[in-house]
Amino acid sequence: MAKCAYCNTTILFGGRKQGELRFCNAECERKGAVAAIASAVPADYVRQRALQVHAGTCPLCAGSGPVDVYTTYRVWSAVALTSWSSRPAVCCGSCGTNRALGDALFSLLLGWWGLPWGLLMTPVQIIRNVVTLVRRPAPHAPTPALEQMVRMQIAQEQAQLQRAPGLV
Ligand SMILES: [Zn+2]
Ligand SMILES: [Zn+2]
Repeated sequence: MAKCAYCNTTILFGGRKQGELRFCNAECERKGAVAAIASAVPADYVRQRALQVHAGTCPLCAGSGPVDVYTTYRVWSAVALTSWSSRPAVCCGSCGTNRALGDALFSLLLGWWGLPWGLLMTPVQIIRNVVTLVRRPAPHAPTPALEQMVRMQIAQEQAQLQRAPGLV
């Protein structure tokens, strides 16, 4: 049976075809196209753009850098439903700290109220935020995580140019 080239889900009905590739839906097709573009962006160009972001001002607070990726973690529950997410942000160290503290508090207040996942995931997400607080990205150069974010951003820009050539 065919599998989605982006998310690897088995396609039961329909789906979208693009040459040899099959996708679940238009959303996966779009993301798959961006992923394909991203893998083709030259490493030198990614590196150069990542250095600019790293040395630039913080996109969140406009303060001074170094700017890097800070991933923080949330969980919330409502009885039978528990939802958790990872929230990477490109920002400065103090914004990273604020986001980690905010998401830890969010999870502490809203995470527990579901069985069983609320009880299981709340400590996990809080500990992940603590790790983000403690394990800081090395300040002298962009981390691989930042390069990956920049690579995806370049791919998004190029995908947009390809989709709407008349608008540029
Ligand atoms: Zn898919
Ligand atoms: Zn900031």
